[in-house]
Amino acid sequence: MTTNLAVASEELVHQFMKQLIKRNPGQTEFHQAVQEFAEVIIPFIQENPKYQGYKLMERLTEPDRAISFRVCWMDDKGEIQVNRGYRVQFNNAIGPYKGGLRFHPTVNISILKFLGFEQIFKNSLTTLPMGGGKGGSDFDPKGKSDREVMAFCQAFMTELYRHIGPDTDVPAGDIGVGGREVGYMFGMYKKLRNEHTGVLTGKGFPFGGSRLRPEATGYGNVYFMQNMLATKGDSINGKTCVVSGSGNVAQFTVEKLIELGGKVITMSDSSGMIIDKDGIDTEKLEWIMELKNVRRGRIKEYADKFGAEYIEKGEPWSIPCDLAFPSATQNEITEKEAKMLVNNGVIGVGEGANMPTDVDGVRVFLNARILYSPGKVSNAGGVATSGLEMSQNSLRISWDRAEVDSRLKEIMKDIHEQCVSYGKGSDGYVDYVKGANIGGFVRVADALIAQGIV
Ligand code: NDP
Repeated sequence: MTTNLAVASEELVHQFMKQLIKRNPGQTEFHQAVQEFAEVIIPFIQENPKYQGYKLMERLTEPDRAISFRVCWMDDKGEIQVNRGYRVQFNNAIGPYKGGLRFHPTVNISILKFLGFEQIFKNSLTTLPMGGGKGGSDFDPKGKSDREVMAFCQAFMTELYRHIGPDTDVPAGDIGVGGREVGYMFGMYKKLRNEHTGVLTGKGFPFGGSRLRPEATGYGNVYFMQNMLATKGDSINGKTCVVSGSGNVAQFTVEKLIELGGKVITMSDSSGMIIDKDGIDTEKLEWIMELKNVRRGRIKEYADKFGAEYIEKGEPWSIPCDLAFPSATQNEITEKEAKMLVNNGVIGVGEGANMPTDVDGVRVFLNARILYSPGKVSNAGGVATSGLEMSQNSLRISWDRAEVDSRLKEIMKDIHEQCVSYGKGSDGYVDYVKGANIGGFVRVADALIAQGIV
């Protein structure tokens, strides 16, 4: 009986994906994100008749709307530049659309649909009232002057402002969009609308930002790892850790790992990786933050400054470690890298980035029965704290750092519990992919059903 059901589900997944690929040709990242979700949720719907007959998979994989627009701005040489801007408003069943803006030359509709789709379930897991969305542009802030970044952000907002609002859609940062970019965009929104509302999160503290928002994604990922390790009676203390990336998420992952007694030996950027066998300590991390956030230099300079090893185009997955935290971008870890990590004895992988491991890599981790948390859960601390920023803006209050930190810890613990309750198998192993997808799905599905056919 169970076998027949499993075979039937597999065929349904296959048929569903065939249709999805036909309707969305060439959108490979989007296909990948849906595939991982469908493999868990289609069998779940098969086993739970209350979710049958509503075309939930079809409805959830079609965005409410996807907006694309031209962004014209002038560079420092007086030349006109043309970029493409996007906002994908995926699903608002449980709250206003919420999700970051990415500025990177690789940005396209496939990447934004994958990110917006995952955002629906991530936001649902936080238990805060936030729907899913994502946006951005193929604009590359790298190498641009502050004035050029401002000119672009202002031009981008002259179109985006029509589509967003504190009760409609509340964007935040992502790759290439940090405090500086959010500040410029907020300034332009305020000018156009003549209102000072919580329309963006990740704002500077003096104008409505939340304490701990910059730290939240990295800290949250480490808190989630603490929760996973605790199920084995273990902790971060004394663990050798590898981290990829050196941006917002990577920096605060490293900060929290150091604080909890972990030894971090790698960081990277899109040019290469540094390996510091002595471990990155607080002073070295401060230097990296200044390098990346103020001088906007390359990670290679770290090797020159501290005498560490530098590998051009290198990624940390071949370096023996206990814990790995991919925190740069999607598809950093394929089957090959996942096998290297497992063969070298990794016990936990906590994804700071969104979908840094491809479908085959995930299978390697699950088959090896290691502690593996997909980005959908382990990087949810960022959006959860954005949700707290929205609450503070609406209430016109500001919580201190300790208050936000304790709420963040509580949310990560709660997400962990949801994953355990939906993902624990009969042998006791917790499949966090299953737990995350089902935990995220049920709330959104219940809301969709209750709200009728719209
Ligand atoms: P940043 O722009 O601050 O940093 C990104 C880092 O990743 C940089 O070191 C960058 O190197 C590297 N990187 C980016 N693209 C590539 C690439 N194609 N190949 C190799 N390295 C690359 O971004 P964040 O730290 O904010 O985001 C990192 C990841 O975390 C993303 O997947 C994002 O979606 C996810 N995330 C972020 C959240 C947040 O709150 N910021 C919340 C939840 C998830 P370089 O400087 O050379 O480009």
